[in-house]
Amino acid sequence: MENNDNNINEKRCVLCNKPYNYKYKMFGRRCLDNLYGLLEFSKSPKFIWNKEAYLCTRIAWRNHKFFLSKNKKYSLAQKYIALNYLNRMNCRFLDDIKEKISKDINNISVFSRNIVSTISFELNDIYRLFNYTRKFDELIKELQNINWEEVDEKIAENFIKSMSFIFTITKKMNPISYAVFYSMQYTFWQVVVIGGMLKDKKLSARLLSNSLSLLGKEPEDLIIQDSVTDELLIKSRVFNDEVKELIEKYGKGTDMFDLKDYEKDGVLLEFEGGDLLYSLHKATMFVKATKNEDNTWNLEGDINDIYDFTEFKDLKEYVDNKEAMLTDILSTLLNNFGVVSSEYGVIKTYNVKIKFNFPNYKIKLKE
Ligand SMILES: [Zn+2]
Repeated sequence: MENNDNNINEKRCVLCNKPYNYKYKMFGRRCLDNLYGLLEFSKSPKFIWNKEAYLCTRIAWRNHKFFLSKNKKYSLAQKYIALNYLNRMNCRFLDDIKEKISKDINNISVFSRNIVSTISFELNDIYRLFNYTRKFDELIKELQNINWEEVDEKIAENFIKSMSFIFTITKKMNPISYAVFYSMQYTFWQVVVIGGMLKDKKLSARLLSNSLSLLGKEPEDLIIQDSVTDELLIKSRVFNDEVKELIEKYGKGTDMFDLKDYEKDGVLLEFEGGDLLYSLHKATMFVKATKNEDNTWNLEGDINDIYDFTEFKDLKEYVDNKEAMLTDILSTLLNNFGVVSSEYGVIKTYNVKIKFNFPNYKIKLKE
């Protein structure tokens, strides 16, 4: 800024970054007034000539620090204001950063030689993060009230689009904005997608939920065997067609076969829609089949996949538009968001295995 010839004397408020030309060193007049309110200081007395210096002194006093040099006082004030804004953001991933700033504040004393900053920041960045989180909190409240089964597709799409600002890859570089954006994305997936859009897609919700990992933690692999998933498979055209094909191929003239003996990599299942499609993308099935006396089959097997959100990009290609109304939003917008969240490490990759055991399976005839 100072290198710009036209603006040699231009000062910018360290909080809001707007230019100002008052005598203060750090803040424009409006921001300074707001800070008195934000930090819950009573207004400065009339005879105080420099309200900015006075605010910094008050902050020092509040921290039981007296006789600080001007530099130390101003630096302390910036750290203290930053900490105040961070405390107002509802973000548990900031704890570590807040602790570091608190330590830096404690280390400022009349005896300290230098001002040590364990963590460096621009107050303006913190202020902007604070505004992002406020906008996010408002939007998330609206999104929580949406009935995803009834909402019009265009409206739903616009709501989801309004969240795009939290999926910015550039915020990854700085540890403070990383923590804030991580937290917003984490909440988005938990609240909007799992608690809202995927409410009636239990398997997808469970898999996505397992993939969301807390900062620094890895998700565990999943083994799933339950009645909800059994039901999905039994109703799936892709599953039934594949089983029928396998029985026709390997079950002729025998009462038992194990697919592994014929195809060591199993067979690929590409589901056509619904919960299974959102859950599994490149799933491989193994199955052991034993014929019962009544000509039904005993099927025992598993379906394996790597849960990887970035593979959602393939979805659009084979989903037809007759699918549920949210298909298009899920397959395009959420895909892009998912890729960003994978970059942030909010959504992580893991192995999933679905086990099934159908004791009296009847081959379904193709319609
Ligand atoms: Zn300002």
